[in-house]
Amino acid sequence: MRRYEPEQIEPRWQRVWADERTWEVSNAPDPGHGGIEPAKSYVLEMLPYPSGEPHMGHLKCYAIGDALAHFRRRRGERVLHPMGYDAFGLPAENHAIRTGRHPRGSTDASIAEFRRQFRSWGISIDWSRELATHEPEYYRWTQWLFLRLFDQGLAYRRDAAVKWCPTDETVLANEQAKDGVCERCGTPVVSKQLEQWFFRITDYADRLLDDLDSLEWPEHVKTMQRNWIGRSHGAEVVFHCEELGTDYPVFTTRPDTLFGATFFVLAPEHPDVLRLNDSPEVCSYVERAAAEPPEQRGSELREKTGIALGRTVTNPVNGEEIPIYVADYVLTEYGTGAIMAVPAHDERDHEFAQAFELPIREVVRPGGDEDGPDAAAGPAPGALPCTGDGVMVNSGRFDGEHNLIAFDAIVDWLAEEGRGRRAVNFRLRDWLLSRQRYWGCPIPIVHCERCGLVPVPDDQLPVELPDIQDYAPKGRSPLAAATDWVETTCPSCSGPAHRETDTMDTFVDSSWYFLRYCDARNAEAPWDPEVLDGWMAVDQYIGGVEHAILHLMYARFFTKALADLGLVGFEEPFARLFTQGMITRDGAKMSKSRGNVISPRDYVERYGADTARCYMLYIGPPDQGADWSDEGVGGIHRFLARLWRLADEVAERDGEDAAIEGAGLGRPTPLLRKAHWAIDKVTADLRDRFAFNTALAAIIELVNDAYRYKDDLLTTPEGIAQLRFAVATAGSLVFPFAPHLGSEVYELMTGTRVWEEPWPEADPALLSAETFELIVQVNGKLRDRVAAPAEASDEEQERLALGSEKVAAQLNGGEIVKTVVVPGKLVNFVVR
Ligand SMILES: [Zn+2]
Ligand SMILES: [Zn+2]
Repeated sequence: MRRYEPEQIEPRWQRVWADERTWEVSNAPDPGHGGIEPAKSYVLEMLPYPSGEPHMGHLKCYAIGDALAHFRRRRGERVLHPMGYDAFGLPAENHAIRTGRHPRGSTDASIAEFRRQFRSWGISIDWSRELATHEPEYYRWTQWLFLRLFDQGLAYRRDAAVKWCPTDETVLANEQAKDGVCERCGTPVVSKQLEQWFFRITDYADRLLDDLDSLEWPEHVKTMQRNWIGRSHGAEVVFHCEELGTDYPVFTTRPDTLFGATFFVLAPEHPDVLRLNDSPEVCSYVERAAAEPPEQRGSELREKTGIALGRTVTNPVNGEEIPIYVADYVLTEYGTGAIMAVPAHDERDHEFAQAFELPIREVVRPGGDEDGPDAAAGPAPGALPCTGDGVMVNSGRFDGEHNLIAFDAIVDWLAEEGRGRRAVNFRLRDWLLSRQRYWGCPIPIVHCERCGLVPVPDDQLPVELPDIQDYAPKGRSPLAAATDWVETTCPSCSGPAHRETDTMDTFVDSSWYFLRYCDARNAEAPWDPEVLDGWMAVDQYIGGVEHAILHLMYARFFTKALADLGLVGFEEPFARLFTQGMITRDGAKMSKSRGNVISPRDYVERYGADTARCYMLYIGPPDQGADWSDEGVGGIHRFLARLWRLADEVAERDGEDAAIEGAGLGRPTPLLRKAHWAIDKVTADLRDRFAFNTALAAIIELVNDAYRYKDDLLTTPEGIAQLRFAVATAGSLVFPFAPHLGSEVYELMTGTRVWEEPWPEADPALLSAETFELIVQVNGKLRDRVAAPAEASDEEQERLALGSEKVAAQLNGGEIVKTVVVPGKLVNFVVR
């Protein structure tokens, strides 16, 4: 008996696919068979960040996407399934800082390894469209798109508070400043005001929110997007500081509680804090607070801290002077970074007022609407803080009104007085895109003393990233040290000017890559609009849920902004989204610190890619987390080996018996019915849901049945034909998951290439659970007729016959010396 040898089979098929460029797809419309243009299908996994080598999460993501791509191709769709690399970013840059070597080296090495492994996994990628975001041919267009947004006023500069490491002299991203210390050197992080580049994503907040309804995305992802955008309705109210002559607008969802505002709070990042009070105590509070993660600062559980600034503002509704505090429970992420504090009707304001012994004034008394449905459920009158509805008290001429009526009346009154207006507020902030970093896309702007900010003309793009000697940031972008590159002439007035030295957030690179795949080799434009229209939107996007907020939000913003510019003809990039669950090991997340990281490479080398891919899809529903087990891998490997050996054995029998060449399938056997059942099951699992695990289970059942009936079937030409059909079907169905083995088995059975064959269709006649009338005899005499399933085995027929009461009466304790079974017909018991 020969052995299943994936190390032989897999490279052979990979060579065929590479040599024949099997998975490349043309942009030219293809009339297809019978002149009907096939439906397009854009199947896309999120592009990988190339660092080191691929991990298990990549294997899962591409195994899912590839199964879908194969399924859709064989169902007659024209499938675009490309690959690229999100190649700029911090790990490569930090590696460069440590080693002094150019980040391009480690990035390109990593890309080569990713590419090699993707090929060794047999993923069906159209390699002719491969791209990497660090290549000038790509980032030329990233810069071009930036300039289109700049022309529209959607890219702009302003001062912003950034997290800053005083030791490394660099700006840190939130995730680099966990627990208030620099991830790299452990120094406490401080806050610093720097001029930064922003995209005006807040202009799109309403559309980003409303258009979520049109998307077939998992509900939890939509919820995360909605919460991130955070739209709330209320009012903007202006508090005036007499001493400084400054207005402080605040956003509140509760203008009806304005009479209860007894103090005023600024976030530590508010630009005016130090102007109001720059004592050392305040300065150190501000620096410390800015370094802490916002989730902790905003927590209701946390003890409230703050400092009185020794200033007051005037409450516009009653003229009261109320004290100003700086306190870290107020965040700049929301509203204006300033709040009116109403301790009687807000939990956190209430805690703060208690800690600082500030007055608490009730202005909405619950239970005012005695007959209302909420009267009984609401808190007892006087229990504060109370966030519910009720009747206005302590609120001047609004006393006695219901607070929801007073809400509008107060806003109207403020508007007449010029001290407020109705307002919608978003939690979403503009996208801070500049980084004081080397390894990113240069921002194509020139600073001219005379002309200000001047865009680099399109015909001078790309602004190439220059090579430098030292990658470590020194309080400014490392690019600032490249003097020859920085010093330039103004494209507008030809006077001396200098280049922008900040680079772009890598999220910019990944906000449009899916557009470039459509027309990846276009040297004249980022894309041909007609080509783009032919492929977009992405029909199925697949990736980790950790990208459910920022990446998806940014890509949606880019698409909408480009639609407004007339550069694309659609508003949403990803029609359907699937988020995969995480792979754990021994119940724990894989991480270097735990020492439980396993590499796909080890499993692919030991068992073959087909086993690794199938196991990944078999361990559970792919949107759920799953725990990797080596025993499980072994089980799947044995299944694939059984399928291969079966095909090998049947193929040999074909050779022995030329008679079967012309043989029909004959009367359907249980195995033939099982094959059609498996086709039906796998098709439904792939078409209607991502149920790869149950699809694989159905194929395993089919193979098990083939083994069960094999010896019987091998005795007749019709039996061999049916067995061959069942094994070919197993190969055909397993192909999206195990493309190498699927191709091998199918070729052994049919001599043809499975990917060139349409997806099989189940014969409805063979799907119905048919029964026949089983004749039961005792000593050759008819004693009963019982219903038996069409595919009942001999044993099952015998069992059903023994179950008959009439037969039991005839047997009456006698010994059965012989049982004769005629499949599909009768059972005869010979009794003594
Ligand atoms: Zn540091
Ligand atoms: Zn100029």
